[in-house]
Amino acid sequence: MPGSNSPSETAAEPPDAQQARTREREEQERRLRQRMAGIKHTVVVLSGKGGVGKSTVAANLAVALSMKGRKVGLLDSDFHGPSIPRILRLDGSRALSDGTSIQPAVYGAGLKVMSVAFLLRTADEAVIWRGPLKMGVLKQFVADVDWGELDYLVVDLPPGTGDEPLSVCQVMPNATGGIVVTTPQELSLGDVRKCINFCRQLQLPVLGVIENMSGFICPHCGRRTDIFSSGGGEKMAARMGVPFLGSIPLDPALMQACEQGEPFAQHLAHTEAGKAFLGMVDRVMETSENEITSAF
Ligand code: ADP
Repeated sequence: MPGSNSPSETAAEPPDAQQARTREREEQERRLRQRMAGIKHTVVVLSGKGGVGKSTVAANLAVALSMKGRKVGLLDSDFHGPSIPRILRLDGSRALSDGTSIQPAVYGAGLKVMSVAFLLRTADEAVIWRGPLKMGVLKQFVADVDWGELDYLVVDLPPGTGDEPLSVCQVMPNATGGIVVTTPQELSLGDVRKCINFCRQLQLPVLGVIENMSGFICPHCGRRTDIFSSGGGEKMAARMGVPFLGSIPLDPALMQACEQGEPFAQHLAHTEAGKAFLGMVDRVMETSENEITSAF
C-alpha cells in the first residue's frame, strides 16, 4: 500500500509519467477533501515528548466518545511507536484493501481504527520510511480508509513538535482542535508550552491540556500521593490562556487495563481516573459541538 511519491521516482521521469502522477495526486487530494467533508470534528492529541500517555488519552477519548453514542474513528499516526492496537487489543489486525478503499479495524460496537502498525509484518518491525513515503501513507489513511460519516476522528499524533506532527496536521488543515497531554514534571511542562505554540502557529484551537500521571494511586490502600508536584498543568494552562481539562492519576490499575487491551474509559469507568476522564470528554464534546473555536 505505501508506495507512491518516493523521491527517486521524480528523477528523469518521462513527461507522461509526470502527468500521470500529477493526476493521481490531484485525485488523491480530491478524495481527501471529500473524506474530510464526511467528518464533523477532527481532534488531534499531542504531547511534547513520548511516554506521557498521549496514546492512552487518544484511545480512551475515542472509546469514551463512542460510548457516548458518537460515530468515531481513531487514527494512529505515531510512526515510530504505534501503540493504539495494543491498547485496544487489535494487535493482529492488518490493513485490508478491496481495491477502492482500505477497511479499518473495528473496536467494540463500531469504533473504526487505523494504525501504522497495521502495515507492519510484525509488532517489532521498525518504520524506516522516508518523509515523502510517510506523507503518502498518511494521506491514504485519511483519503482511502473507509471511515464513512463520522462525528469525530481522533488522531494520535507522533510526539513532539517537529516535522512529523506538522505533516499530519497539514493533511488535516481544518481540524477542530488539539488536546495537549503532559505530565507534572517541569521538563514536560516546558514541552507543553511548545505544543501550545505549535497549535497557535497552525491556527489549531487548543481544546485543552490534560495533566496525566498526576499523583499516584496506591493499589493497596487506594490513597493518593503526589510523587511529582501536581497542579502544574493547570497553572500552565491558565498562564497560556488555554482550557485545563483535568488530571489523570498515575494508577497501576489503569496501566494494567491498557496493557490488557481494556481501555480504562470503558473498563474502569467507576474509578476516580475513569470518572475524571469521562468528565473531560464531556467538556471536549461541549466545546467541539458548540463550535467554540476561540480557545487559541
Ligand atoms: P505516549 O503515547 O505518550 O508515548 P503511552 O500512552 O503509550 O504514552 O503511555 C506510556 C505508558 O504509560 C503505557 O504503558 C501506559 O499504559 C502508561 N500510562 C499512561 N497513563 C497512565 C496512568 N495515568 N497511570 C498509569 N500508567 C499510565
